[in-house]
Amino acid sequence: KDLIVLEDISKDYPGDGVITKVLESINISFEKGVFTTIIGPSGSGKSTLLSLIGALDKPTKGNIYFEREIITNLKNRRLANFRFEKIGFIFQQFHLLPTLTAMENVMCPLFTRKVDYSKKERAIELLDEMGLKDKVHALPSQLSGGQQQRVAIARALVHRPEWILADEPTGNLDSESSKIVFDLLKKLNKENGIGIILITHDPNLAKQTDRIVEIKDGKIVSDTLQTCKEDIV
Ligand code: ADP
Ligand code: ADP
Repeated sequence: KDLIVLEDISKDYPGDGVITKVLESINISFEKGVFTTIIGPSGSGKSTLLSLIGALDKPTKGNIYFEREIITNLKNRRLANFRFEKIGFIFQQFHLLPTLTAMENVMCPLFTRKVDYSKKERAIELLDEMGLKDKVHALPSQLSGGQQQRVAIARALVHRPEWILADEPTGNLDSESSKIVFDLLKKLNKENGIGIILITHDPNLAKQTDRIVEIKDGKIVSDTLQTCKEDIV
């Protein structure tokens, strides 16, 4: 339970007569309680890996198990439902809709869904948790980068996902905002029990997580549990 397992995952992209092998025979599992970072050079396949885990794309080969269910064979509609139930995404670009307020942006994933709670109240509650109580009715253009990313995190949480997949969420932020966003992710993991898989280029952030997985040329070249060090001391 609370486990994502990737079994012999490969991903190719067909091009003009050439096939780009982006990931090759990846075997790895992720545990919800273990805050995991993925690091590696640009173009090594980190984003591709995350998009496969989050079922935004399908692997060329191999299976992905989500809490024992194989998701790799699901049809598109089932896959969309699976994402809605389990996954929240955040990216380097905040992808907020510019004409909607913070609250409306957070409610966005719920627009086409029936839920048994007040969408507005849920959005306001989350913005409050993100420290943005006074920005509920602000437009993205009236917010700093760090504040926009916190709106994006609230949006990623609005449908109560079990996992947050974060692709360089601090890549466009100054160090202060970066710390705020990172600390929020850490709190979501440790206090709210939400699984976090974070791609980052920042070694300082990676160091503060439980596990660092390093990817190079589409392969896992190292995988370090950092908590062990602390446990021994
Ligand atoms: P990273 O996140 O580590 O920077 P990516 O997963 O974004 O790496 O990309 C890995 C490689 O796969 C790159 O060479 C990239 O150009 C290629 N790639 C990624 N997505 C696609 C795609 N949709 N079509 C073709 N090539 C892609
Ligand atoms: P990030 O900043 O999250 O690493 P990238 O700029 O690497 O994002 O890629 C953004 C998106 O574009 C990803 O979904 C990736 O799969 C896709 N992509 C990256 N490289 C290529 C490529 N060469 N051809 C097509 N799509 C690509």
